Amino acid sequence: MKDEQGMLIVVSGFSGVGKGTVVQMVFDSLPNLQFSISCTTRKPRSGEENGVNYFFLTEDEFERKIANDEFVEYTKTFTNYYGTLKSEIDKPLSRGVDVLLELNVVGARRIKEMYPDSVTVFITPPSIDTLKARLIGRGTETEDSIVRRLREIENESKDIEKYDYCVTNNVARTCADEIVGIIRSEHLKVSRQNVKNLFKAEV
Ligand code: 5GP
Repeated sequence: MKDEQGMLIVVSGFSGVGKGTVVQMVFDSLPNLQFSISCTTRKPRSGEENGVNYFFLTEDEFERKIANDEFVEYTKTFTNYYGTLKSEIDKPLSRGVDVLLELNVVGARRIKEMYPDSVTVFITPPSIDTLKARLIGRGTETEDSIVRRLREIENESKDIEKYDYCVTNNVARTCADEIVGIIRSEHLKVSRQNVKNLFKAEV
């Protein structure tokens, strides 16, 4: 029995926790899952593509979309805007496709308020030291940006208790399997299924 409406899954995690790898593995395991491509005003990192990882916009373009009410939620971190387009989630959901959003804690809170049925998952590192090492090892951040991101980590950790699930990324494959398990179990919840007329006796 398939839900008529797709499910929203919000994944958050500290910078450098390895979200990208884990999330990609989740997509490889679940064909009925689509990524919500966010808009951002930050510059693309090497290997990132417009329309795949993000829609990379200028500040003017982003603010025009705010004025046109095109976002479900948006936020400004440091000096960059990030936002989820209504069109990225409403269309797939109504077609019964699940949508995964990768958001910071502000975005996750906003989505949970607007879509109480959404499932929120926070990915943590095994320890803060592992995280620091990953962030530096990534080689894409300036020293300034690393310091800012570490400060943000401290702030974001206060919000973990508001999430539905918390998984540790020790081994990416295991972490991804846990998230796949969460999504599959959520679909089996009676409240998500149309069970009322399932065993109606035709006599
Ligand atoms: P990054 O610059 O590393 O890609 O993302 C920085 C932070 O912004 C991450 O925590 C990421 O999950 C979050 N983020 C990405 N897209 C959105 C969005 O559309 N809305 C919100 N609220 N956060 C986002």
